[in-house]
Amino acid sequence: MLLTISTTHAPATDLGYLLHKNPDRPQSVELSFGRAHVFYPEASADRCTAVLAVDVDPVGLVRGRRGPAGDGGLLAQYVNDRPYVASSFLSVAIAQEYRSAMAGQSKDRPELAAAAIPLEARVAVVPSRGGEALLRRLFEPLGWMVGVQPHALSDAMPEWGESRYYTLALTGTKRLAELLAHLYVLVPVLDDEKHYWVGDDEVEKLLRHGEGWLASHPERELITRRYLKHRHSLVRDAVARLVTEEDAAEAGTEAGPAAKDPEEGALERPLSLNEQRLATVLGALRGSGATSVVDLGCGEGRLLRMLLDDRQFARIVGMDVSYRTLEMASDRLKLDRMPARQRERLTLLHGSLMYRDARLAGFDAASVVEVIEHLDPPRLAAFERVVFEFARPGTVVVTTPNAEYNVRWPTLPAGKFRHRDHRFEWTRAEFQGWAARVAERSGYAVRFGPVGPMDEEVGSPTQMGIFTRTWADVNPSTT
Ligand code: SAH
Repeated sequence: MLLTISTTHAPATDLGYLLHKNPDRPQSVELSFGRAHVFYPEASADRCTAVLAVDVDPVGLVRGRRGPAGDGGLLAQYVNDRPYVASSFLSVAIAQEYRSAMAGQSKDRPELAAAAIPLEARVAVVPSRGGEALLRRLFEPLGWMVGVQPHALSDAMPEWGESRYYTLALTGTKRLAELLAHLYVLVPVLDDEKHYWVGDDEVEKLLRHGEGWLASHPERELITRRYLKHRHSLVRDAVARLVTEEDAAEAGTEAGPAAKDPEEGALERPLSLNEQRLATVLGALRGSGATSVVDLGCGEGRLLRMLLDDRQFARIVGMDVSYRTLEMASDRLKLDRMPARQRERLTLLHGSLMYRDARLAGFDAASVVEVIEHLDPPRLAAFERVVFEFARPGTVVVTTPNAEYNVRWPTLPAGKFRHRDHRFEWTRAEFQGWAARVAERSGYAVRFGPVGPMDEEVGSPTQMGIFTRTWADVNPSTT
């Protein structure tokens, strides 16, 4: 199976930076079900094309019992379409080979990764249970121009008619991350075969890769049902959590896993800003009288540690979109060796702030520390609804960088963000304007405070908003 991606955005060879694959060097990697190869049949300044070719090893699949157990007897296990058609195997290959591109990240061309560029994609061959019409229903609402070339069952026997196999061509101006997310989710949906990797975290994968487009897709129920292979309990869970982002129809990249990296740490360390920030947030949570707290985007769990050390907090939950980060939190907190009484107070949840999540309701307080700047601006609307409309804790403490302070860091070039995964950094006026609008709309009062040393002219390095619920509980999710 082949996935071909081309761009004409000059210089087109920058596609290599976006995919993190050098156009001059073909690459092959071993996957659990075969091999994937990436190469560039054309790479000029005007047009560049990358091919991801996936060789599925059908014999290995059966021998290693790694594949779907065939219902059709021995022959069907060896002779089937799996090696040749785009299926969930292609999604796995995309996720492994184009991991950074999927997350909307590019070390060398971050602005290009965030930009909509002219893209063409070809997938040969997709099976479509639902024919050409389904291909169009899935991709056209996402803004793609869709070309479909049906394949005859047999070239020698045209009277046999058409098969359910197509070559799919998508053309549009979008971010590469969007293209990859659309293919990652929709190719297995088209195929609708059993795929061997449906597990409980498939709901999370679907919601994560569907961020920004799935909730408002007219076929979201079909997509969800087929992606989750008709496992009804999973489908119900996923559908319930989709928040329709009417106001945010414009999609953005996922705010990928982004624990603080050395870049930002080095800037902030001399101020021990991280400790000051967490101490300030802890103070605000204590002051609110909360006994149950959910830390949204908890990262490696530094705040969770401090909450655990304070007996005021009887129920503590840490939530993050990055599974790896949660594993690091679990290690840091030594969860497996924690005494039972302590252990019972803490839960780690894998989830996304882009989706309504019943597990987030019913807390006295929530903290969102250095997270919002990782979300694409068009996605903030979904975040606002998830936290202030559905979860609705009594208190919400939000911190984010104060962009005005950046001039005080001699090593930070003008106009540059503190961290390469930041999607924006706000001035005090921008943050306060946003917070006031959210508070007003959702029945909260908000007050602001500095975090870190106060500079007369530019303020403190971090800014904090403390939201307090003022409406008695009007919670649209439970009425
Ligand atoms: N609060 C922590 C971590 C901040 S880094 C601290 O102050 O140290 C930002 C964190 O937000 C990362 O762990 C990242 O994985 C998480 N994040 C980004 N987008 C998210 C989303 N949509 N839902 C939940 N968490 C998200």
